[in-house]
Amino acid sequence: MLKVADTALTHREPVDYLQLERTLLKVMPQQRLVSDPLRTLAYGTDASFYRLIPKLVVIVENEAEVQALLAACRRQDIPITFRAAGTSLSGQAVSDSVLCILGDGWNNIDVAADAGSIRLGSGVIGSDANRRLEPFGRKIGPDPASINACKVGGIAANNASGMCCGTAQNSYQTLESMRLILADGTLLDTADGASREAFARSHKTLLHRLDDLARRTRDDAELAQRIRRKFAIKNTTGYSLNALIDFTDPLEILQHLMIGSEGTLGFISQITYRTVPEYANKASALLLFPDIEVASRAVIRMKSTPVSAVEMMDRAKVCARSRTSLACRTTSVRWDRRRRRCWSRRAPRTKTRCATTLPK
Ligand SMILES: Cc1cc2nc3c(=O)[nH]c(=O)nc-3n(C[C@H](O)[C@H](O)[C@H](O)COP(=O)(O)OP(=O)(O)OC[C@H]3O[C@@H](n4cnc5c(N)ncnc54)[C@H](O)[C@@H]3O)c2cc1C
Repeated sequence: MLKVADTALTHREPVDYLQLERTLLKVMPQQRLVSDPLRTLAYGTDASFYRLIPKLVVIVENEAEVQALLAACRRQDIPITFRAAGTSLSGQAVSDSVLCILGDGWNNIDVAADAGSIRLGSGVIGSDANRRLEPFGRKIGPDPASINACKVGGIAANNASGMCCGTAQNSYQTLESMRLILADGTLLDTADGASREAFARSHKTLLHRLDDLARRTRDDAELAQRIRRKFAIKNTTGYSLNALIDFTDPLEILQHLMIGSEGTLGFISQITYRTVPEYANKASALLLFPDIEVASRAVIRMKSTPVSAVEMMDRAKVCARSRTSLACRTTSVRWDRRRRRCWSRRAPRTKTRCATTLPK
């Protein structure tokens, strides 16, 4: 939730959402302002088990509308929550105030000539970006399991990552530049020199404070080491504090803090990602180990090999799921009853037989 004023959560006076709606009607059509009980109820949930019924749903199509919405909410001390596809699992995309939803105006995709980077509107679905990159043997780094539904704005704001990208290819690591709107309505395009310069002039104090905070964090060896350790593993709790020790340029710090900020620091309009290789040939295998410790040691060994994902299943899980002879949805393992062997199938062209036969 983006708080447009410090007092937003402790309203001294009841908020006049009708007035907000009237203000917004000057810049957007009625169809994109939803306040009727039935539809606000429907918008009251994302993929999490939380329910908060928004007072007003605003479907935005462009940056000017976002700026107008932020300005209007700022004037009235009204909190705003952004929603891309709403597949968040922890209630990030629900609100009992204003819910700002991405319309169809955020779907631009521009692939660089060498396909080494891709500029994406925040409404692009992750798998659509990958489809555009497929002919070049590239893909975007973040690979949440929800990639067929979730959108770039949500992927970045959650710093979502899946089985393969880990902490090496997530939004934080593959971010090249960002177009963003802060709560005060300022638009910053970190890829555009003129925009960077204008921002450096208009937000001198903010950048100075970020610089100071980063210096103090880096100078505190114990704190810096703790942050390094915490972010070496997948860590999407709280802000990306690693930005304070990874970068010295305050603008780099700012755009990396936006990653994982869950919409609380500003609105992400566009992102340019450095792309990563999408290998034409992939294979998966089922390996059996005598115990968890040996399996864990093998995982460490595999870190220096081209293995990009490891999923650990204990014996109870393998047996419970595979002996039914049904394709196991979680593990993609199929039990061949006659040969007492497992088959693992990840994708049509990557069928692999496991090396070992399960003991009776
Ligand atoms: C079946 C399933 C599988 C999943 N698998 C994974 C997984 O493997 N890994 C993983 O990390 N997560 C996973 N998730 C969680 C979720 O799908 C991802 O975090 C996803 O990236 C959220 O994207 P979204 O477009 O749905 O964003 P939303 O849920 O709409 O929003 C996510 C956050 O981003 C903010 N936001 C949205 N758009 C903007 C914007 N333009 N500017 C600023 N802030 C914005 C929202 O306020 C919210 O805080 C899964 C969810 C489901 C349902």
